Amino acid sequence: MIDFDLTDEQKALQKMARDFAEREIRPIAEKLDRSQNLLQDFPWDMLKKASKLGLRTVGLPKEYGGPGFDFRTWVVIIDELAYCDISCSKIITQSWRGAHRIAHQGTKEQKDRFLSAFRDDDTYLLSGARTEPNAGSDTHLPYDVPEAGIMLTAKREGNYYALNGRKHFISMAPVAKLVTVTARTDKTLPPSKGCSAFLVPKDTPGFRIASIQDKVGYRFDVQGELDFDNAKVPVENLLGGKEGPAGPEGPAGRIELCAQSMGLARAALDAAIKYANERIQGGRPIIQHQAVAMMLAEMYQTLQAGRSLLWRMASTADMGQDDHALLLATKSFCTEAALKISLTAMEVFGGSGVMREMPVQKYVRDAMVLQHLEDTQQISRIKIGQVLESRLKEGRLSR
Ligand SMILES: Cc1cc2nc3c(=O)[nH]c(=O)nc-3n(C[C@H](O)[C@H](O)[C@H](O)COP(=O)(O)OP(=O)(O)OC[C@H]3O[C@@H](n4cnc5c(N)ncnc54)[C@H](O)[C@@H]3O)c2cc1C
Repeated sequence: MIDFDLTDEQKALQKMARDFAEREIRPIAEKLDRSQNLLQDFPWDMLKKASKLGLRTVGLPKEYGGPGFDFRTWVVIIDELAYCDISCSKIITQSWRGAHRIAHQGTKEQKDRFLSAFRDDDTYLLSGARTEPNAGSDTHLPYDVPEAGIMLTAKREGNYYALNGRKHFISMAPVAKLVTVTARTDKTLPPSKGCSAFLVPKDTPGFRIASIQDKVGYRFDVQGELDFDNAKVPVENLLGGKEGPAGPEGPAGRIELCAQSMGLARAALDAAIKYANERIQGGRPIIQHQAVAMMLAEMYQTLQAGRSLLWRMASTADMGQDDHALLLATKSFCTEAALKISLTAMEVFGGSGVMREMPVQKYVRDAMVLQHLEDTQQISRIKIGQVLESRLKEGRLSR
């Protein structure tokens, strides 16, 4: 059985995250959305304040000074932050998955070195780089042959690996102090066996941010193009200490993405309800027109379905069950729900929906970007199909 009730601790964290978001995020969100210079306007003060409350380091296990929260607690906190603005929410939560990964896949020495530095510095952000100009969906659904997928190479030269190649679309890389980079260590093997991950500090010689990549929405999830020109990465920074994949990627990134989607969708629905109650047409608030009430009801229905699915998925992950089909189905449903709900909210607003001073156009632009994070909708569905087929072959269909 899955328990939908929040614990007292989760309720307190929910309140803390909500108060923080209303106080520190809401007042700056719109100005950030109109920024002409993402790096210059990056909200370091907001991040520092979040960090002082422990919000930046939620993904750290207890033995490294973090809270060791379960995924359901992640969902509760992210939902509140994203309700006010998903970009600021992402700035705070982006490093949770990175810390989680180092804690689960790093060597003892790597955990001591990098997680302590991360914990002690209020402006320390983590980033993860897999995607390349010619390796997008290939990194999620690899054609598992040597000539496909990731092409950035890492060649051992004495005590270093020399990294050469390009990454792009990498979240927070321009502001991160450490980037976990997936590279090809053996070009004769398919990507599933021939890739390894490296912990690359931002001041590594030969590594630079080649450009900042701006987007239509979700703008302060700052994307960067990364250039590696004989970047010298010490052998001790090979994640897990040996070549080859350091382990499965785990559910952390997709749980973060789904929780953000649901926080945004909830905000869009609330904005639509308030507007529908205030806007008078035909001599009465438009909420009293059945056509509008039906739009609100559909948005509510989709939101509740997404939230329930996400809670179930987070609970499954907390119980240590690896249900990849459920993870991908939840990711696909929640990101699509965010876009559907914000587009319907835009209809409720009528012509005002596309006006810059109204909140709803930002929800749509932000939700559009969410569709492209992690695996695309098509790749998610192909992978779900593959899991279902393998279950059929194993004789366990819907179990
Ligand atoms: C805002 C944002 C943040 C991101 N953050 C990161 C990050 O932090 N780290 C990182 O490594 N990456 C990141 N990415 C990259 C993201 O994971 C990729 O954009 C995504 O995997 C899709 O790759 P692509 O953009 O190259 O699209 P493509 O792979 O070129 O896909 C184009 C179209 O073709 C379809 N397609 C491609 N291959 C197949 C196939 N085999 N079968 C069927 N259909 C297919 C796709 O579904 C899509 O519709 C980010 C992207 C965005 C937009």
